[in-house]
Amino acid sequence: MRRPFVAGNWKMNTDTHTSVDLTKRIATGSSEVAGHSVTIAVCPPFTYLQSVTKALSASHIAVGAQDVYFESNGAFTGEISTSMLKDIGCTYILCGHSERRHVIGETDELINKKAAAAIAGGLLPILCIGELLAERDADQTGQVITRQLKSNLAGLSAEKVSAVTIAYEPVWAIGTGRTATPQQAQEAHSFIRELIAQMYDEELAEEIRILYGGSVKPDSAESLMRQNDVDGLLVGGASLKADDFLAIIQAAI
Ligand code: PEP
Repeated sequence: MRRPFVAGNWKMNTDTHTSVDLTKRIATGSSEVAGHSVTIAVCPPFTYLQSVTKALSASHIAVGAQDVYFESNGAFTGEISTSMLKDIGCTYILCGHSERRHVIGETDELINKKAAAAIAGGLLPILCIGELLAERDADQTGQVITRQLKSNLAGLSAEKVSAVTIAYEPVWAIGTGRTATPQQAQEAHSFIRELIAQMYDEELAEEIRILYGGSVKPDSAESLMRQNDVDGLLVGGASLKADDFLAIIQAAI
């Protein structure tokens, strides 16, 4: 039985005051679901990670970072290591988000190094994969997902991959207001689960959580969560509004 997982990606938003205020509102509003079997995480910008982890101490909500570097320390100006993130209380790490792939230019190879370093450093990666609109229109969704999963998880054993959550995030659905239909999400998620079974084994495929991400809103969350292979939701824009994020969490229970 896979435990539902709802994560909020705040991207490059909030400030000192709004990050803590949003955190507190989410923690208070979800306190009654704390006993339920749902994993909740928020991923603020680096600058607010520490104040958010402090505001969430002793809470049922975990904190994730939006990026990490694969080296452990040294002359890497501007980068942040896994041990630094662990040190301030992070649990999760977003790897391969489409904005890092397509805006910043991260390669599959770099994403693989980051995922491997995160696992080695005791963080739990949320590995984001998904196709561009042109790739979907050209019927290449399966090929893209296969390439990304095989290269991003290269060299990692089944045991290590059991630390990973996969987020299927079709690029055409991220920040566009155009959510994948529940059927499109289910089709992609079951493809991913079968691929994990082929790459590793049935046991890992059964246990690994696959989140859907891409313009999830309170009114689309429930039908997405009803799909067999949708184990949770990665939420961008709607995670910046406490009421919307709380409604999405409620839909995931
Ligand atoms: C995301 O940033 O991962 C995301 C899914 O964003 P949005 O919900 O805004 O589409």
